Amino acid sequence: MEKRKQIYEGKAKKVYETDDPDLFIQEFKDDATAFDAKKRGTIQQKGVVNNKISNILFNMLESKGIKTHFVKQLDERNMLIKKVEIVPLEVTIRNIVAGGMAKLLALEEGITLGEPVFEYHYKKDSLHDPLINDYHARALKLANQEELEFIEKTSFIINDLLKSFFDKKGLILVDFKLEFGRYKGKILLADEISPDTCRLWDKETRKKLDKDRFRRDLGGIEDAYQEVLRRVTG
Ligand code: UDP
Repeated sequence: MEKRKQIYEGKAKKVYETDDPDLFIQEFKDDATAFDAKKRGTIQQKGVVNNKISNILFNMLESKGIKTHFVKQLDERNMLIKKVEIVPLEVTIRNIVAGGMAKLLALEEGITLGEPVFEYHYKKDSLHDPLINDYHARALKLANQEELEFIEKTSFIINDLLKSFFDKKGLILVDFKLEFGRYKGKILLADEISPDTCRLWDKETRKKLDKDRFRRDLGGIEDAYQEVLRRVTG
């Protein structure tokens, strides 16, 4: 399968058409951004690592019955995917307080939540992806009730699957972001699952092994991504 026209360039990926009208190729870049792209940088080999990690996680989820846009890994940086229409919602699930939730509610990072917290953010950069609820999502026609129910139910299942997968690899899944897309009347899990989109802490030391090392200039970012890859492949 070969790349044809580039149809989109985002912060971390490019998307290309292929000869098959139902399939796209997504290419993972080394570019990193944070804080609404006010902070920009490069994480060496990030694209290669995130492609591999996403490939492993999409395969694992598919094997457990989650429908995703993933078709196959083409090479180091390229993944063949189904051409979905992205639902303009970012779903976040939180198991431990961090990032946006710590800030919003003045909570200390690291508090384990009694139950997972599910959030919708409206995917709109110009508004800084505001936190919204299902009423907003319906009123703005971002998705219908049936789609929202499916997305919520599926996201909690994905949380359970990812949490136990990472736990076996000595990693704590603190929180993560998912995106979904429409494909031939169905909702599929889309985008990527990687240390760019998940907070992952070492189970023993609680060392951060994700994009927070870039956001907060903690150093050792490349090593952290490679460590996550080693753990998930091991
Ligand atoms: N996240 C993401 N893309 C975004 C915003 C958040 O992948 O545009 C991920 C982030 O890496 C974390 C989770 O979603 O794992 C929750 O992020 P949060 O809402 O705390 O926002 P942040 O701290 O990134 O501002």
